[in-house]
Amino acid sequence: MADTDRIALVTGANKGIGLEIARQFAQSGVLVIIGARDPVRAEAARDDLTAQGLKAQSLRLDLTDQATIATAVETIHAGYGRLDILVNNAGIVDAADGPPSTSSAEAARRIMDTNFVGTLAVTQAMLPLLRQAPAARIVNLSSSLGSLSVNGDSTSPYYSARLIGYNASKAAVNMLTVQLAQELGDTPIVVNSVSPGFVKTDLTGHAGFMTPEEGAKMPVRYALLGEDAVSGRFVEPNGETPW
Ligand code: NAP
Repeated sequence: MADTDRIALVTGANKGIGLEIARQFAQSGVLVIIGARDPVRAEAARDDLTAQGLKAQSLRLDLTDQATIATAVETIHAGYGRLDILVNNAGIVDAADGPPSTSSAEAARRIMDTNFVGTLAVTQAMLPLLRQAPAARIVNLSSSLGSLSVNGDSTSPYYSARLIGYNASKAAVNMLTVQLAQELGDTPIVVNSVSPGFVKTDLTGHAGFMTPEEGAKMPVRYALLGEDAVSGRFVEPNGETPW
């Protein structure tokens, strides 16, 4: 199937890594749908791409609002009848998150609600459309901070990054990848967790070693994997990440 035939939805695609994932899809000829919780920001991101001569659409999609998820499903169903690629990119950090002894429990709840429960809700809602595609791909944006092994390795550069809410939310996203890949094992649908690297975006306060354009490369590569695609993996730019 030519890339021009593929339809991709990227959540949280109005800025940061998500916007660059959308741009790279559109540059490959994939028809990209920009999901964003704020319709004005969604349209601005779409206009950014179309001004470059790229094909893009936008819709309102708030991971914490089931009604917007249901409407997004209806819109994609009416327009295309299927979805080839779902990139679960939207995610948050919270200033009140921190080490387990002092993090705000409410902050941890907010982070879990968006990063894990919201991602689960979008994935469940989109599954019937993904099943209609010949070989759908799901990419879950994870983080090395979601690795239990990395969190327990005192030699890791991430060892001191104790954000109980955020790290636990990405570990939970990894659990979604593992279980969903198993559940869909007898289908052509492939599910992977991708850690983009340490990327300069609003989420990191613009700290990091990579541009959003560079951070988008791995998620896009895994979304465009061919027939020999592996499923249920956790990868980062340097290779496989330990769970
Ligand atoms: P970002 O620039 O802050 O972008 C996050 C995006 O998620 C924004 O579009 C934001 O929308 C959206 N979002 C937040 N809550 C949402 C909700 N309830 N519904 C829909 N969209 C929502 O962050 P980023 O660095 O590009 O992060 C993208 C993903 O990569 C996240 O999952 C993050 O955890 C992951 N990641 C990033 C890094 C890094 O170094 N940057 C490393 C590892 C993993 P608004 O504009 O409306 O807030």
